[in-house]
Amino acid sequence: MSRADRFDHVLVGGGLQGCLLAHALAHHRRDARVLLVERGSDLCGNHTWSFHDSDIPERTRVWFDPLVDYRWPGYHVRFPGLSRRVGIPYATISSAGLREATRWRPSRNDPPTAPWSFGSA
Ligand SMILES: Cc1cc2nc3c(=O)[nH]c(=O)nc-3n(C[C@H](O)[C@H](O)[C@H](O)COP(=O)(O)OP(=O)(O)OC[C@H]3O[C@@H](n4cnc5c(N)ncnc54)[C@H](O)[C@@H]3O)c2cc1C
Repeated sequence: MSRADRFDHVLVGGGLQGCLLAHALAHHRRDARVLLVERGSDLCGNHTWSFHDSDIPERTRVWFDPLVDYRWPGYHVRFPGLSRRVGIPYATISSAGLREATRWRPSRNDPPTAPWSFGSA
């Protein structure tokens, strides 16, 4: 049996997309055995991502909202001679928060940098 056969889902790339997918699976498929393959030494990169809070679908909030580090009710855009307030809530998530929110562990018998897994595999 290959390593991939021991998992229900294999995600390649532990950046923003892979880490968010893993969180969604952890919520929607609690018993799933998930393998996340990341070639780098850190999961979820080393970033801060900011976005309009209204871009997050309501059905996603149950697992996404705990990942949010900070929210603003709006923001100002300023150029020379032009300024306006944008009343759309803004929010931010970070790599550190994404990593902390999932109990990742190196997959058994693998070197510490890759791959990573959660679930019961
Ligand atoms: C300076 C900067 C600022 C940004 N700010 C924002 C922002 O504020 N808001 C926003 O929404 N977006 C922002 N973005 C865009 C956002 O970072 C990207 O859209 C997002 O990271 C893409 O996610 P991803 O998972 O597809 O790719 P990545 O985050 O790049 O992740 C890909 C992962 O796959 C791994 N990988 C690649 N090949 C392999 C392989 N063969 N095997 C195993 N692993 C592999 C890489 O090591 C990496 O960890 C910003 C981007 C940059 C560069």
